Formats: sequence, structure tokens, C-alpha cells
Amino acid sequence: MPELPEVETVRRRLAPVLEGRVLEGVDISDARLTRPLDPHEVAAELLGERVATLDRRGKYLIVRFESGRALVVHLRMTGSFLHVKDDGLPDDPHRRATVTLDDGSQVAYRDVRRFGTWLLLEPGEVDDYIDARVGREPLEAAYRARHLAERLAGRRTSIKAVLLDQRSIAGVGNIYADEALWRARIHPLTPASALDAEQAKALHRSVRQSLQAGIRRQGSTLRDYRLPDGEAGGAQHEFKVYGRGGEPCERCGTPIEKIRVAGRGTWYCPACQQLEPGYAAASRSPSRPSRSRRHSSV
Ligand SMILES: [Zn+2]
Repeated sequence: MPELPEVETVRRRLAPVLEGRVLEGVDISDARLTRPLDPHEVAAELLGERVATLDRRGKYLIVRFESGRALVVHLRMTGSFLHVKDDGLPDDPHRRATVTLDDGSQVAYRDVRRFGTWLLLEPGEVDDYIDARVGREPLEAAYRARHLAERLAGRRTSIKAVLLDQRSIAGVGNIYADEALWRARIHPLTPASALDAEQAKALHRSVRQSLQAGIRRQGSTLRDYRLPDGEAGGAQHEFKVYGRGGEPCERCGTPIEKIRVAGRGTWYCPACQQLEPGYAAASRSPSRPSRSRRHSSV
């Protein structure tokens, strides 16, 4: 699933394409994209809107129109955009929508697994919608270690689960949670509330470093993620632990191990990221994902 670095990379590529342009043609061919609303109605509403800015919050792309309305896009598992300068889009059985801009170029949305969503919001609705679903932006200058520490306090669940909760930090998913925990030398099963101020500080720094490394390499392409020009990202070549089971830790040489935490495959270095003995039993007891946690793992 695209995480913050992937969505931010898409935003940076699409912003100059979309900003200032009028939507002259909108074709939404998959009802799942806009449900429960009728895709033809949504397409008709979008027609004629001029794009003011393309923003991002967490894993959401927000196309803000000059009218004050906004189209909130979530790529979920396999959503991606392709931009072509003319009307020469290649045939694609997984295309779900096509937008024609007033400069004659086209932006196509493809989604193999069809979990992605397009939601058109009226002026004034966007902030409430987003704020109810995602926490602070980890790369904003104003985001401090104490903000992270506040989200960890009182949370007895594993630190990995807390990082995956979008209301803790916006945009961190399975990949960058593992990468950040490795950098901070924190075992993914450590109860969030057990981290001391020093560890919270290290994790705050590590989350930012991991996300920035992902953005520098234009996101990671594991399966379907593509940049809007069709290229693949390169961050997967620089992962420290994610997907590297059995390979040596670059810090200490110990083979990376894979376990399951919060229902997700989780990679870590058993030497650099040790679980303090007291926490092993408590955190390994199987915990059913709560409704709210499942809901918020967007
Ligand atoms: Zn190590």
C-alpha cells in the first residue's frame, strides 16, 4: 500500500500538471470508486472545476478546487495515476477513471484491486473529514518529539500497532513503521507506553528519516505503485529491514527476522532491537484488532 513517501511523490509529480487546469472531461467507469454516490453524478459535478492546489494529508491526496470544493483521493492498495500530454493513453483493463484537462493532457486513474476511493467534498467539509481520520503530519517543522510522546502515553499496545494507527501519525504504514523502529533500535512489540523520553525522541527522528529517505527515492515500488509518468520508485532498494528476512543487519550483521505484529508481517533485527524481558509475555498475548484500529489503518 502506498504510504506517505509514495503519496507525496505522486503529489509532487501531479501538482504542476493539475494546478490551474480546468477539468474538461471526467469519465468514472467504476462505481466502487465513488460509492455510495453514482459515478456519473460525481463526474458531472467535477466537470468545469478549476484546480487550485494539490495537497496531501497522511495517505490522502486532496485536489482543492477554486470553488472551495475538494476531491479527496485515497489510493489504498493499488491505486495509481498516469499523466499523458495528449490523448494517447494506452489501453488498460484496470483503468477506473480518466480526466481530460483544458490543456489537452489526460490523467488516468488505475486500480487493480479497486479499494481506492474518490470523495467529492463541499467547501468547509475537508478539514473535519481529514482531522477525524489522521493525526499530525510527521514531516512538518512544527511536529516535535513531544507530539509523538503524547500519542504513546497510556497506549499499552505494541509500538508498531500505534505507528500503524493513522491517528497517531499521519501516513506511516507497514514499511516505514518497520524502517523507523530499526533506526530507533526499538523492538516492534515494545508497549508504546513503555518507551521513555529518550526513545520517543529517537523514534520521532527515525520516523522522519525513514519517510524522507523514501521520498528521496521517489517512493517504493513493490508491486503496483507507479509514478504519474509510469516510472517505478527506488526506495525498496534501500530498505534497512522491510522484506529483508535472513539478510544481515547493516549495523551488526545479525540476520533480520520476520514476525507478526498487529496482524502485519514485521521485520526487525533481533540484536539491535531487543525486547526488554518484562514486556515479552504481555505484548505477545494475542490481541484482537479493535474496530477502531481496523477502521483507522487507512
Ligand atoms: Zn542489527
